[in-house]
Amino acid sequence: MRNLIIRLGFFGSVSVITFVSLVLSVVVTIVALHLANLPVTWVGMSVSIIVPLVVAPISSGFVVHTLFQIHELEGVMRSMATFDMLTGLFTRPMFIASSTSAHHTAMRNKTSLSLLSIDIDSFKKINDAFGHPAGDEVLKHFGDVIRQNTRRSDLSGRIGGEEFALILPDTDLAGSIYIANKIRLAAKTAVIHHGENAIRYTVSVGVAHTDHDANVKLEELMQISDQALYAAKNSGRDRVFVADRDRAIESSTDMPPPFSRDHTLH
Ligand code: GH3
Ligand code: MG
Ligand code: MG
Repeated sequence: MRNLIIRLGFFGSVSVITFVSLVLSVVVTIVALHLANLPVTWVGMSVSIIVPLVVAPISSGFVVHTLFQIHELEGVMRSMATFDMLTGLFTRPMFIASSTSAHHTAMRNKTSLSLLSIDIDSFKKINDAFGHPAGDEVLKHFGDVIRQNTRRSDLSGRIGGEEFALILPDTDLAGSIYIANKIRLAAKTAVIHHGENAIRYTVSVGVAHTDHDANVKLEELMQISDQALYAAKNSGRDRVFVADRDRAIESSTDMPPPFSRDHTLH
């Protein structure tokens, strides 16, 4: 019923309700007069037509208008639950839900998958030095950086205040490190003009990866990419660190030991 009203639109719905009320009113009037053994007069019929013509549009207009407002608000709430208002990236719950699905798909199809945990460096200092609105501009800018440097099939979310995460489906480790550095360098080389201020910022990235022949759980990927991120922070920030759970693959492919080598590109 509700979907039908939405489909018909405001004027369509009010017209249909008015028409149905009119028909019902005429039918009920004729039946009632017939049952009461009274004649069907022009006065009676006029009243049965005029009353619904006046009352139905007013009362149904009010109800339909309220229903449209609820529908619009639901849309806004759904959008707020799905997309972060500042950056337009997924919210944390939406990112986790879509990542879970992407992870299931990767495990089922035996394809690789990478998770990038990204945190803006010393963000508190940016807020303190330039103010909260300037900090918001930096967050917005970084949202654009992520969008511009990832594929449409990648998933990206703002999962905390100045914390972001990316899922790169069907991307090998070298490709993931490349993307991570591309994002890091795009942030590092940008200048954000906010009022009188020219703001620069950097980010640190932790990369976790699972190959087609491994089967690392999503929670585990999140945990190790976070560990890699903290290792990047502890090593001085503005760098990309890789977490590699599978030590056998790591040594045979000459990948760096977990957290021990910085993948920063200069
Ligand atoms: P680190 O390099 O170790 O990550 O240091 P940091 O200063 O970035 O990290 P910390 O966790 O100390 O500070 C994060 C700051 O992010 C503090 C908080 O006020 C700010 N923040 C969180 N959400 C928002 C937001 O939506 N807008 C703005 N402007 N600031 C925010
Ligand atoms: Mg930070
Ligand atoms: Mg943080």
